[in-house]
Amino acid sequence: MEELYADFVVIGSGPAGQKAAIQAAKLGKSVVMIEKYPNPGGGCLHSGTIPSKSLREAILNLTDFHKKSYYSKHDVQEHDISINDLNYCLNQVTEEQIRQLQRQFEKNNIKLIQGVAHFENHHQIAVLDDNNHLTHIITGEKTLLATGSKPRNPKNVPFDKEMVLDSTRLLSIDHVPKRMIVLGGGIIGSEYASFFAALGTEVIVVDKKEQMLPYLDKEIGQHLQSSLSKIGLQFIGNRDFEEIIRHKDEVEVRFNDGSSLKSEMLLYALGRVANVDHLHIENVGITVDSKGYIPVNALFQTIVPNIYAVGDVIGGPSLASTSMEQGRLAARHAFGAETHHFPTFYPIGIYTIPEISSCGYTEEQLKNLGFRYEVGRAYYYEIAKNTIAGNDPGMFKLLFHADTLEILGIHIIGRDATEVIHIGQVAMTHSARIDYFIDQVFNYPTYAEGYRIAALNGFNKVKHKR
Ligand SMILES: Cc1cc2nc3c(=O)[nH]c(=O)nc-3n(C[C@H](O)[C@H](O)[C@H](O)COP(=O)(O)OP(=O)(O)OC[C@H]3O[C@@H](n4cnc5c(N)ncnc54)[C@H](O)[C@@H]3O)c2cc1C
Repeated sequence: MEELYADFVVIGSGPAGQKAAIQAAKLGKSVVMIEKYPNPGGGCLHSGTIPSKSLREAILNLTDFHKKSYYSKHDVQEHDISINDLNYCLNQVTEEQIRQLQRQFEKNNIKLIQGVAHFENHHQIAVLDDNNHLTHIITGEKTLLATGSKPRNPKNVPFDKEMVLDSTRLLSIDHVPKRMIVLGGGIIGSEYASFFAALGTEVIVVDKKEQMLPYLDKEIGQHLQSSLSKIGLQFIGNRDFEEIIRHKDEVEVRFNDGSSLKSEMLLYALGRVANVDHLHIENVGITVDSKGYIPVNALFQTIVPNIYAVGDVIGGPSLASTSMEQGRLAARHAFGAETHHFPTFYPIGIYTIPEISSCGYTEEQLKNLGFRYEVGRAYYYEIAKNTIAGNDPGMFKLLFHADTLEILGIHIIGRDATEVIHIGQVAMTHSARIDYFIDQVFNYPTYAEGYRIAALNGFNKVKHKR
């Protein structure tokens, strides 16, 4: 057993822990990071963001997805895509990302220890190996919990490795299914459902809500639904499952209205839970909230001031992007560096096919809040770049104050949405008005030009009133 001292002890090597560790190291602090798994990267790299986005990219490339909308479908050679083709792409990305992380940790003198960490007291963390043997006791001035989350696996769902899957198990399947049921129309369910539909799998998404991704701006949600049905994805709303039964060669889902569906594979995508099981947070007086997350204040401090928590373990928005910034801010506060509150406006990226990104209010929220707003729209068929790149469906929707013209919300669905959103995000952060997009020169042809077209469309609706 080894005893160590560190200014900063980081538990978990996902995006939240990484950015916190690097920030503390840059402030001249000694940092020890503890990770349960042999390779760093967290759920983000091994079972979440990176594998899912790598699969998406591989599917788009291998199926010539964008070519299909440009040329006649008959001119694009259809070929069978095996799970090995997809895994090859995935493994390349994972290995490169692990190498990158190891280089960053080395460069910043961050000591990475493999094992499961738990609290002994406010300043001491114990690390156990796979055989439950104590390997380290680390005394730390400040500790950061960045232990992430995992798929919710209720006891009444008969999970296995072939038919009844969650988003982690899905990454180990040995063939591309012909038919698949996805339970849950949230981000994870919708993304994977669209990937498999693009691969040619017959996909049915079932949710108890009326539509997929119900918190999206409604118009964008409708646009998504219609794009997904064009690639063969079927959505059944207002239906709650009662029982999942694994038969010999298929899985059956029985619903509360007496109906049932059978399929070769099922993806259960109904929620995630915080990783707090082995931490012994009771030893330091921390308790979880009613949803199982660790409560923190606006500076990411738990009830114990020298223990911070960031990322998925504290609950929403549960994104790699937001987790990184939370980690960085927590480390800055912990060591007295200048900091700020978490930004009010940040983009949400949803990598369905087509992808979606938004920042700020939805139209429904503005209505409920009583704002006097107007809408500017640009459809992808109006954007020259889209005609060149493949005639994909999509739209820009800009919401702005009808009197002051201040931008209140930006919603984009279509190719490159998750990239071009940042232009709008920067404008919103600086309280820009809609005419900002009119008075600027944009590269041409680009998708970003959609901002200008949408701004002109919106501005023309209000100009006579000004
Ligand atoms: C399928 C899927 C797709 C996603 N796509 C996106 C996306 O496109 N964009 C986006 O921004 N976000 C996406 N997310 C969300 C994103 O992956 C998470 O928000 C992010 O990984 C959270 O980072 P984290 O550092 O809090 O935790 P994690 O990445 O989960 O890392 C936590 C680490 O802590 C370790 N750990 C846990 N307990 C202990 C312990 N006691 N001792 C030592 N180590 C421990 C775990 O082993 C893990 O490695 C996706 C998630 C999923 C599941």
